[in-house]
Amino acid sequence: MEKHTTIDTPSTMHDTFGRHLHYLRVSLTDACNLRCVYCMPEDITFQPAASLLQDEEILMLIRVAASLGVDKIRLTGGEPTMRRGLVELVRAIRAVPGIQRVVMTTNGIKLASLARPLAAAGLDQVNISIDSLDPVKFRSITRRGDLDHVWRGIAAAEAAGLTPIKLNCVVTRGFNDDEVVELARLTLTNPWQVRFIELMPLGSVADFQQDQVVPSRVTQARIAAALGPLLPVAGHNGHDPAQPYQLAGAAGQLGFISSVTQPFCAGCNRLRLTADGRLRLCLLRDAEVDLLTPLRAGADFASLQHIMAEGAYHKPWGHRLEEDDIARSREMSQIGG
Ligand code: SAM
Ligand code: SF4
Repeated sequence: MEKHTTIDTPSTMHDTFGRHLHYLRVSLTDACNLRCVYCMPEDITFQPAASLLQDEEILMLIRVAASLGVDKIRLTGGEPTMRRGLVELVRAIRAVPGIQRVVMTTNGIKLASLARPLAAAGLDQVNISIDSLDPVKFRSITRRGDLDHVWRGIAAAEAAGLTPIKLNCVVTRGFNDDEVVELARLTLTNPWQVRFIELMPLGSVADFQQDQVVPSRVTQARIAAALGPLLPVAGHNGHDPAQPYQLAGAAGQLGFISSVTQPFCAGCNRLRLTADGRLRLCLLRDAEVDLLTPLRAGADFASLQHIMAEGAYHKPWGHRLEEDDIARSREMSQIGG
């Protein structure tokens, strides 16, 4: 049960459940150069630029978050590499006092040319989405992507030191669930973490998503049957949603993100900032706090601190998918995963 009390502005953010919130995922745009079937409808209209946060506004909100103890930023989207001035923005975010780590989740399409300048600007690491090793299937999942560009992006990220490379695969029944063994096999010779993500129902494509979910335990059993037992990796960071495993003798790791069948709410330390300036308290719940309006109305730093900390305090616990309570107000691409 959520309590509705107010708090004085602290220097760290905690919620009513005592969770310490110090990781902010920032969506830099809702636009994307792909149209993944599990993420957005094919005919999606992206938001007009005027309703999105400008660079200075993003920086201001990150400064506010950092003053409240946020030390890690993940840039996401939509596709974060679509944002103009990304390299300079990364440099400026990295310079915000208190920010220790800036990482990014990307589809990798534009990384071949961007990896090196991003690393030089201070980006620490990237997660790259790759759902299939078959160019034809990849195109059908993404509705337009060229798999070659992603491979070039992965190579460039590795060369630029944006490591450890983590590869995100959303397992979607009938699209790529027959490829999980081949995807897992990548870890035998590469020092990558290949992460299998359960499809989450959200937004206007929620009904499609619900039909296509493959539970992590099914993916794990498939991989183990073909490649041998999955050995748990010791020392798992309880805030990482990916449960890590390793195949015997492998150079890399496997990760399983089971948000639907085994939610990890107890370890959740994150908040999300949408590209249109809302603090999203939980990926799978629609509760949001408007930061854009007060920001544009001239709210001072202390007021923004108070609004953010107060919002964070009321972060909810748990999705309600089993009660068929699905967050439909936004597409995944508008929140950033
Ligand atoms: N465009 C970038 C990308 O694809 O990596 C960043 C944004 S994307 C929304 C972030 C992550 O969410 C990606 O790994 C993507 O595969 C994942 N994702 C998108 N829709 C999803 C869904 N319905 N369920 C689970 N993961 C999803
Ligand atoms: Fe774009 Fe990423 Fe969504 Fe695919 S998952 S459509 S790449 S935002």
